[in-house]
Amino acid sequence: MSTEHGLPEREGMDYDVVVVGAGPAGLATAIRLKQQAAERGSDISVVVVEKGSEVGAHILSGSVIDPVGLDALLPGWREEADAPLSVQVNDDHFYLLGPAGGIRLPNFAMPPLMNNHGNFVGSLGNVCRFLATRAEALGVEIYPGFAADEILFDDKGAVTGIATGDMGVDKNGLPKGEFTRGMELRGRYTVFAEGARGHLTKQLIAKYGLDAGRDVPKFGIGLKELWKVKPEKHKPGLVQHGFGWPLDGKTGGGAFIYHMEDEQVMVGFVVHLNYQNPWLSPFDEFQRFKTHPFFRDTFEGGKRIAYGARALSEGGYQSVPKLSFPGGVLVGCAAGFVNVPRIKGSHNAVLSGILAADHLAGALGEDRGHDELISYEAAWRSSAIGADLKKVRNVKPLWSKLGTFIGIPLGALDMWTNTLGFSLFGTLKHGKTDAASLKPAKDCKKITYPRPDGVLTFDKLSSVFLSNTNHEENQQVHLVVKDMALQKASEHDIYAGPSNRYCPAGVYEWIEEGADAPRFQINAQNCVHCKTCDIKDPNQNITWTAPEGGGGPNYPNM
Ligand SMILES: Cc1cc2nc3c(=O)[nH]c(=O)nc-3n(C[C@H](O)[C@H](O)[C@H](O)COP(=O)(O)OP(=O)(O)OC[C@H]3O[C@@H](n4cnc5c(N)ncnc54)[C@H](O)[C@@H]3O)c2cc1C
Ligand code: SF4
Repeated sequence: MSTEHGLPEREGMDYDVVVVGAGPAGLATAIRLKQQAAERGSDISVVVVEKGSEVGAHILSGSVIDPVGLDALLPGWREEADAPLSVQVNDDHFYLLGPAGGIRLPNFAMPPLMNNHGNFVGSLGNVCRFLATRAEALGVEIYPGFAADEILFDDKGAVTGIATGDMGVDKNGLPKGEFTRGMELRGRYTVFAEGARGHLTKQLIAKYGLDAGRDVPKFGIGLKELWKVKPEKHKPGLVQHGFGWPLDGKTGGGAFIYHMEDEQVMVGFVVHLNYQNPWLSPFDEFQRFKTHPFFRDTFEGGKRIAYGARALSEGGYQSVPKLSFPGGVLVGCAAGFVNVPRIKGSHNAVLSGILAADHLAGALGEDRGHDELISYEAAWRSSAIGADLKKVRNVKPLWSKLGTFIGIPLGALDMWTNTLGFSLFGTLKHGKTDAASLKPAKDCKKITYPRPDGVLTFDKLSSVFLSNTNHEENQQVHLVVKDMALQKASEHDIYAGPSNRYCPAGVYEWIEEGADAPRFQINAQNCVHCKTCDIKDPNQNITWTAPEGGGGPNYPNM
């Protein structure tokens, strides 16, 4: 049998639940479903597909991890011989930074929810690797190296599963010698756990209008490096956060430095993607941050061992789309469950997986399928996730509207009053999308960044090398520019090519020489799957689609 395009028919497998994405949200969903099945004396068949070459390969997070989710999912995980987190936060510093110094903010001034004591410092990728072993031990099938590429629907419009992408298609879209047709994984329910700006999630939000009546989604880009520092500079359990310099007062974001085990220090920088100046380069702001007099000493004499970047969702409580639709649900950062001032979402990813699984198991127990799990959508706001996000819902809008120096103190005040049960502001709106916030280049000050010194600061290409990114070169470009004329007339002529600066992997270049200049060159093989171009392109003219499964970064313990 072959399709109308002459391709062989896809083979398929049937499950109770198909999960897209082996991050903390997807793996928690899978584990909890199996736990529920065991409690009910039944079985629930569960499959997880993951586009990374192995579980954890595409996971990039801070991270300081609130263990509330892990404790609920696997009580006793702390005593396990292979427990992935061992270092607890023992010192917690917040700084407001200027170019030559800064002030450390007293911890007592911080709202209690900002306290990190009791949290763990570690690699979320390694947490996922641990969760995957527990899921497999419970009978979950996990398939790394397979990207969910297409959503399957029945004739009533309900989701019935996903198809993985075809492998071995050349850059012209033609099958190569090693061509393998994708698989259909069909489920009574499908759980989308793709993380921030999931590309199938984006299609579902549009198809079912899941964002109707919700505020716009908001995002940040987070860049991160892992360093091995000199033993005398290593303080396991120390957590430092800074905001202010090198960003200007109108641009939101900040830095983090987390000391984990084995002389390893994670340093990262987040820039809110509603920044206005198209000349800004999040990558170069990050590099500059490491030279600050308060922090450079930590890295001097050390060695950078890994680099990566990933978008994070920042819309919070008011931007969470509807979570249920016929045949499926959204969990984790696909839904946008990050607590922005805490820069934490992994605990809510796990908690939402648990919540979704409980509602899925109930529906499967009633022999349902392909219908809408409206009870899950109805439950999240009154759950621990809703309580966590509601208290901080005004921090990001205040910061965006009033800037760092007024917005942050007012945000802190609002977190204090919310701790007492009220807000002076109600629920503020975010305003424009991140794509709509750029100003024309001619109206903004050009930013000149210092050259990298190769010791503390680096260029993009040597950084991407440390992300171990790899894509099969002879495949279709997975970054789709809808209208190249618009890209030239607007992205290039009006905004001066911001993709060259916001992309943390040097994928986009405007070539200004030659007969066809200016020409938009896409070095797709460098893409670290951060999704920033899909969010920040001013015309929404770039769409991130899934490359062949297994391609992309290979993060060790990010
Ligand atoms: C720089 C940065 C710092 C952060 N710091 C912290 C912190 O300190 N503490 C904290 O708690 N949180 C932090 N977060 C947020 C946290 O990382 C997220 O909340 C969390 O990772 C969300 O989990 P998830 O499972 O929803 O998504 P993800 O962790 O993004 O996992 C999604 C998985 O799905 C896979 N996938 C996606 N699409 C497909 C597809 N179509 N087919 C197959 N597989 C697919 C991806 O490869 C990935 O493995 C940070 C985030 C960033 C970017
Ligand atoms: S091409 Fe897009 S998704 Fe890939 S690294 Fe660059 S900005 Fe991120």
